[in-house]
Amino acid sequence: MRFGFHISIAGGFRKVVERALAKDCNTIQLFSRNPRGWNFSELDKDDVYEFRKQIEEAQISPVVVHMPYLPNLATINKVEYEKSLESLISELKRAQVLEAQYLVMHIGKRLEATEDQALAQVIKGINTAFKKVKNDVILLLENTAGMGSEVGYNFHQIKTIFDGVIEKDRLGVVLDTAHAFEAGYPIHTQDGLDKTLKEFDKLVGLKRLYLLHLNDSKTDLGSRIDRHWHIGEGKITREGFRIIINHPLLKHLPGIMETPRKSDADDLKNMKVIRSLVNNQ
Ligand SMILES: [Zn+2]
Ligand SMILES: [Zn+2]
Repeated sequence: MRFGFHISIAGGFRKVVERALAKDCNTIQLFSRNPRGWNFSELDKDDVYEFRKQIEEAQISPVVVHMPYLPNLATINKVEYEKSLESLISELKRAQVLEAQYLVMHIGKRLEATEDQALAQVIKGINTAFKKVKNDVILLLENTAGMGSEVGYNFHQIKTIFDGVIEKDRLGVVLDTAHAFEAGYPIHTQDGLDKTLKEFDKLVGLKRLYLLHLNDSKTDLGSRIDRHWHIGEGKITREGFRIIINHPLLKHLPGIMETPRKSDADDLKNMKVIRSLVNNQ
């Protein structure tokens, strides 16, 4: 498995690779802009060129762009939905300019809508965005913990979205281990993971799974409370991560950690722990 972190773009994209290499990353996730707001400026051509050159040299792959925090395609509020759709459209384009393979999107919050209404909004939004932007970026739906009014915490809901999306080959899934565990999938045991992957395969299809978010969970199985924690120090446990990253159906995937970071030392520790759990064949 190739491992990486979500890397800060502070100071420009030309600063990213140095940070990623200092943390021993083979793959990275990043925002294309400040994630806390609706506004953004155009990508700087020279900066992107410099970034791409360094990415190639360092052989970092894949590059994953994460959507900003505010967009929520699942809403039935017209104004919020339209703004979210515009964000998805612009992020699909920006991900292509950055030559990222994947764009990660949280499935969203239904708020006052029903689950069916929320999923219908997500489907409509993805179909509209795919019609407006034609490129190679694969949009990855991220499973949620099911906290509050989040939708997308079970594989049936993800299947519903796939069923409604026309250009299915442009859509995939990123499985967040903390979210799956918090949503009630017992992925920390061999038997539980086997059953979870079997169900995923039946409903969504394992070929749609492109990426793992490797996060331990501070909260219990089925808590529906999203609290990322350090690898091996949470309820998924070290043994759980050993099972996950060495699973024959998962070990070829890239794994990005979004673990807590008070300083870079936290990332260095988590990278060391996850690499120590890889079984030598
Ligand atoms: Zn995640
Ligand atoms: Zn989370």
